[in-house]
Amino acid sequence: MTAEIWEKIRQELKAKIGHNNYTTWIEPLKFEAFSGDSLSFRVQSNFMGNWVDRYFRDAICREAAAFGITVTRLSFIVEKGVSADAAAVAKPSPKVADATTPVAIRPDRSPSKPAAVDSLRLDENQTFDTFVVGKPNELAHAAARRVADGGPVTFNPLFLYGGVGLGKTHLMHAIAWELQARNPAARVLYISAEVFMYRFIQALREKDMMGFKELFRSVDVLMVDDIKFIAGKDNTQEEFFHTFNALVDQKKQIILSSDAAPGDIDGLEKRIVSRLNSGLVIDIHPTSYELRLGILQRKEEIFANQFPGARIADGVMEFLAHRITQNVRELEGAMTRLFAHSSFLGREVDVNMAQEFLYDLLKDADRKVTIDEIQRKVADHYTIRVSDLLSHKRNRVFARPRQVAMFLAKEMTDRSLPEIARKFGGRDHTTIMYGVRRVEQLIDSDQGIAEDVDLLRRALKAQ
Ligand code: ADP
Ligand code: MG
Repeated sequence: MTAEIWEKIRQELKAKIGHNNYTTWIEPLKFEAFSGDSLSFRVQSNFMGNWVDRYFRDAICREAAAFGITVTRLSFIVEKGVSADAAAVAKPSPKVADATTPVAIRPDRSPSKPAAVDSLRLDENQTFDTFVVGKPNELAHAAARRVADGGPVTFNPLFLYGGVGLGKTHLMHAIAWELQARNPAARVLYISAEVFMYRFIQALREKDMMGFKELFRSVDVLMVDDIKFIAGKDNTQEEFFHTFNALVDQKKQIILSSDAAPGDIDGLEKRIVSRLNSGLVIDIHPTSYELRLGILQRKEEIFANQFPGARIADGVMEFLAHRITQNVRELEGAMTRLFAHSSFLGREVDVNMAQEFLYDLLKDADRKVTIDEIQRKVADHYTIRVSDLLSHKRNRVFARPRQVAMFLAKEMTDRSLPEIARKFGGRDHTTIMYGVRRVEQLIDSDQGIAEDVDLLRRALKAQ
């Protein structure tokens, strides 16, 4: 292969990996040689080479193959004078991130990219357009929108937290897409904390801290997903903290996510917790029935395109929204399966069939929980007596847990309202209905209740 062919390959790459990835990672590569099945380049730092190797090797090999050239390996020669140590003592002109090689890592809209999401590739289905907003996530959504407007930084960081599969990563991707659409020059870096750590360790090992620091400190927007991965990893935390401070000082937006509030992440240093808390901390509540149904309805269109001919009977979506409550990802998984079955079998899927096809997903939810168990668990949870739970005392200390227990009884058992009413000290069934509604509303508006219900539900299912 000659430099000319490399030139052609890289032009192809440009179209495939997107302009920004191209200018950041591919353009600076200097073609050196091709021998055997190995393609070598001169680069400005180890860091750069590693990054290209990790994220772009497949694409490079693929394009080379299109020109009839078999490449299986990339190798990199670090140019003299700009290795980490040299750069640190020499002029402050780190090559990785100087003005001509922006370190933007932006959404890549090329249709040929793999479905898997790694730290560089943003999922094109995860945009604001596809994000369904409901009470449990409306605050998080509003804050994400605000950040995505790209105006002056008013809160830093934006810290999103919530249970697994509730849309944190989706929102981060949506922000990245939106920022890029509004301002193609913005340098947006989305990375998982795990990859951040991995890159950090690698930079340490290869003595390329300069390249590492420059990369992370020259972005306009930094998003680090699942921050708990750096908890307990002292050196990584330290570096993260410095990066964080440097960006905050420059008024660059930082967006972080986690499954718990800053103060509840084990092993996270106090000073980091306090920095995180100085921004805007927002949680995404467990989904409500309405939100789940909304998400299913939105996804229905997408799935209908993916599985031509699939037909899902009325009531199936409601059934799923009712039964699969923990995690939107599971909900999507259930839907995929139903669409696939229908498409393959050429038959409409009704609720009975759905029950059969989703047996494994539903069986957790299926364990029969009794009203007595619910009452005991709820009383325990709120440290009150079951007799108080069943009593007619109106004090909120008893009334709220009572309503929670009514709600769970309705949700987790097949009992009718009059049956539940009888089990709750012979009340009227309208009282039960009122209690259930009340808790439904509270789940949307009161984080404490939402968490209590979620916890109790899990505890009851697990026993
Ligand atoms: P998390 O990062 O909080 O664990 P994800 O963002 O990965 O969760 O969401 C899991 C899946 O559920 C994704 O496919 C995502 O698109 C989908 N999802 C979650 N919340 C919503 C929502 N409000 N609207 C549409 N899809 C959602
Ligand atoms: Mg996530």
